[in-house]
Amino acid sequence: MPHTILRKTYPPPVLVFFFAFIMIASLLTYQIFISPFITAPWPKWVMIPSFCASASFAWLSWLVNPGHLASPAQRVRNRAPANNTTFMHLLEQVDAADLCPECRVIKIPRSRHCNVCGVCIERFDHHCPWINTCVGRRNHFYFFFFISATWLFLLSCLCEIAVFYSEIVDG
Ligand SMILES: [Zn+2]
Ligand SMILES: [Zn+2]
Repeated sequence: MPHTILRKTYPPPVLVFFFAFIMIASLLTYQIFISPFITAPWPKWVMIPSFCASASFAWLSWLVNPGHLASPAQRVRNRAPANNTTFMHLLEQVDAADLCPECRVIKIPRSRHCNVCGVCIERFDHHCPWINTCVGRRNHFYFFFFISATWLFLLSCLCEIAVFYSEIVDG
């Protein structure tokens, strides 16, 4: 059986920098142009910790292995001609639908091959362009808190606008 090379794309992490720019620009804009003019301090108490939490959990989600079924080093070894017989042997024993032709590993329930990262991910959720990595079994926890903290940060931005309008614009 010929070795099937699935389509791989390696997009530059433009969205990661775009996301960081939006977050930092929002924080600085609010802290410089809005916060000094309102008396209610609580939007700031939520905004700064939620910004720090969002950045920390985004970094942790990116840092933690999402659950690769085969490491890149293993995949290189598996591609070696001497090991082709092992893969062919696997094909005789395991249903072809249960094998990933790219990683040459036996897939497990809910695992899926990510065409961007080029690896099979355990309990695959999705490939997140904002953190430029997959979300899988091992980093799902951090990703959940990343989304929650980002949501809280955006909510605190809206609250700060509401307080600004009620205190300054309406008098
Ligand atoms: Zn795979
Ligand atoms: Zn991926």
